[in-house]
Amino acid sequence: MTPAPSHIAAVCFDLDDTLYPQSDWLHGAWATVAARAAHDGVNEQAMRRALEEITSEGSDRGRIIDRALERLGAPHVPVAPLVDAFRRYDAHVLEPFPGVRAGLTRLAAHVPLGLVSDGDPMIQRSKLAALGLVDAFHVVVWSDKHGRRHRKPDPLPFRRAVDLLGVGADETVFVGDRPDKDVAGATAAGLVAIRVRTGEWVGHADPDEAWASVANVAEAIDLVAGVLEGAAERGARHVGPGVRGQASSTPASTRKSRKPGASR
Ligand SMILES: [Mg+2]
Repeated sequence: MTPAPSHIAAVCFDLDDTLYPQSDWLHGAWATVAARAAHDGVNEQAMRRALEEITSEGSDRGRIIDRALERLGAPHVPVAPLVDAFRRYDAHVLEPFPGVRAGLTRLAAHVPLGLVSDGDPMIQRSKLAALGLVDAFHVVVWSDKHGRRHRKPDPLPFRRAVDLLGVGADETVFVGDRPDKDVAGATAAGLVAIRVRTGEWVGHADPDEAWASVANVAEAIDLVAGVLEGAAERGARHVGPGVRGQASSTPASTRKSRKPGASR
């Protein structure tokens, strides 16, 4: 583990399995895909089961729908309408992990917040809306908008977030669940990383380069907020009573006007 940062100017988050359980979204998406496959004579229950099973073998291995059809002996069924149903699936309502909404508000009282996410931007945007978190972030970076080769751990989306937030990489904390993408990518781009042990990567070893490894996002927020609140208190004490001081972590409200909800 690396030492705690001496100064925190911004906090960025991953989306899937960091702010909410991705499996909640996938269950609904696979049900929709299976229902669409039934139009082509595929057994809906069997298709749903195959999709869930293949996902549990690793959701980022790709071709999940094709592999499910192959497994059911139905490779002739056209895959394009099923991919389309997957992309258009809208969960409408998703529940963040406990403490996320209040925690983000707590952090935003001190520093601006960012989101950096891989995946189809249309899908990722609909997840953020279903979570009710569209306005929670000052900056949102969808790495796929820069090309799939720039998905995490590529440094580009991390650097883009830091640039848009107007802060230094080394004073930005990144919170994410995947050691190989979130922690490795953030630290390679110069950010300070916290690993959350939630989601399908929970069994993977902690990376050495993380500042901390915690059980969930609420603990990560607590850790960062503790540093920020301690710094604010020290700043107020240092300046003395009756004088409006500048804490070491500049409150978001005093930065150049930056409205939450911007998406890049
Ligand atoms: Mg994730």
